[in-house]
Amino acid sequence: MLVINDDAEDILALQARLPSSVNVMVASQFQARNLTNFNYDVVLLDNDANNRKDSKGKETLEVIRRENPNVGVIYTSFQPGHVPVKVYKTQGVEVIRTDTLPQILQNRFGLQMKAAEERKEISPDVSLILTYNDVDGYPTGVYSQGKLIVVSGVGRAYTAAKQVLADKVGEIYQNFEWRRDRDLIKNIFVYDGQNGEDYPGQAAAGLGHDLRMRVNLVACSCDWGRKIGLKNSTYVNLFQVECGGQRSLGRVADVILGVKRPGINYSQMNVPQEFILNQAERYRI
Ligand SMILES: [Zn+2]
Repeated sequence: MLVINDDAEDILALQARLPSSVNVMVASQFQARNLTNFNYDVVLLDNDANNRKDSKGKETLEVIRRENPNVGVIYTSFQPGHVPVKVYKTQGVEVIRTDTLPQILQNRFGLQMKAAEERKEISPDVSLILTYNDVDGYPTGVYSQGKLIVVSGVGRAYTAAKQVLADKVGEIYQNFEWRRDRDLIKNIFVYDGQNGEDYPGQAAAGLGHDLRMRVNLVACSCDWGRKIGLKNSTYVNLFQVECGGQRSLGRVADVILGVKRPGINYSQMNVPQEFILNQAERYRI
């Protein structure tokens, strides 16, 4: 088989699970685009769209199909809902979520895949709250030695919501080293109101993709149908809160930091405590 992926970690993780009898060739997206021979039993092609960049896999797929119209391609992404439509429409291509790959190879080719390696468990302890509005009681900043990072606007953003969110997401991406830091993140909460339109959902799905985890979308009831659509097409949890989200996000922050305020029943929150205190579901090979 030919494995095309720019993420060396993913390649190593896959190789560690494959039986040694399987002949594996590996190529970066760039290398693969210069190949002319794709005569393999199967090509495993990754979407490689990290850090909000365009999908590299889509381009590589065009080269593969030009050189070889028939070779079977399993196309992987940690967020299949964000894979370009053109990929889905290409003949002989199956799009799957990356972490399901070992099981699919086992079923399809009868390969006896090895068990996943025990990871040296770093226990992730950083939670991130992202909103274009503000968070009750918690201005933008880092709390409790990095246990909580709040990235927020100032007051209600209203029509500036999209711009505020775009700026904030840009800041996060500038300050974060995904490969190194992603294991540290325990949970992410993104507010999705009305003024942000598709932007918060895209931010949530994008962060989920890059961190390989299920992100919590904390949303008001406006445009609820759109938000349900997002939940169905991407791997996010969806919780309904008040318009603006300030109060609910403030309570989420309280729970993260173990702060109790009088008159608040923390056991009855729109975002249940288990989703705040337990670590998010993660996807890995
Ligand atoms: Zn609303």
